[in-house]
Amino acid sequence: MTNAIGIVITDHIVAGRLEDQQLKGKLLRYPADPGEPDILSSIPVCDLVRMFGDFITELAGQGAAQPDAIGIAVPGIVRHGNVEDSPNLTQIKGVHLGEEMTQELARRGIKVPVCIANDADAIAAGVAALYGRLEKLTRVWTIGNGIGYGRWPYFEGVWEGGHITVTLDPKERFCGCGGQGHLEGIMGHRAMRLRFLDMEPEEVFENARNGDQRCRDFVDLWHRALAAATASFIHLAGPGKFYFTGINVDFLELPLLRTHIESMVKLSPLQSFSLEILPPDDRTAVIGVGVTALRGA
Ligand SMILES: [Zn+2]
Repeated sequence: MTNAIGIVITDHIVAGRLEDQQLKGKLLRYPADPGEPDILSSIPVCDLVRMFGDFITELAGQGAAQPDAIGIAVPGIVRHGNVEDSPNLTQIKGVHLGEEMTQELARRGIKVPVCIANDADAIAAGVAALYGRLEKLTRVWTIGNGIGYGRWPYFEGVWEGGHITVTLDPKERFCGCGGQGHLEGIMGHRAMRLRFLDMEPEEVFENARNGDQRCRDFVDLWHRALAAATASFIHLAGPGKFYFTGINVDFLELPLLRTHIESMVKLSPLQSFSLEILPPDDRTAVIGVGVTALRGA
């Protein structure tokens, strides 16, 4: 039997324990109640590390055996345990979270390999595990405060799909990373609030449904941007299945997205792509990062 613990940081933190790649017991969550999307960005790294340590200690105590591996998924560019950048969680930029956690756990008498992964990759791994697709290419867009792109199986690379350039318009500069023309600068929750200072993203989509032309134009741009990024990945890695999830996935209209992708992908061997919405579920990423950690261990 394999035992693993998975922790995922998105706009909140969830942690869970896996036995044989299945969740056991309840997920732990911070904050306990869904709060402001930006609550985590003000927590210092040392407090985050201590909180992860508390979660791991509590979950490890629930299992019959020590975990074989611990996986922690964070937004940003992660390589070999080091968080090289994290535009939406800036305090962890440059932090070797793998080493920090190994030391924190050693102080608590827990000696288990720790794997740090990208949050969107964890969701892709979780989808692959839950849908029996561990041998297939699985790609997932996460639509929230940031825009994440995850893929399974893990492949060395950066894969910052949210920062792919989808327009040459120099006025498109709302991305949290500061780059012009980025997908996240159009689709990200924070970027939408910066663009529409007079209304919340939910109101923008609501007004579009009620016929407001400015909002309708934006909703079309939002879908065309995602179509452009998806079409780019189809042209690079081939067709296949794309999943869409995240706190703002309710804004997504698959028929509209499909129409735009079809206008962009014209090479016949590439047209056999499929699209599916997954309701956001914390369990998917927790399973995914646990599975990823077990494979690494
Ligand atoms: Zn960007």
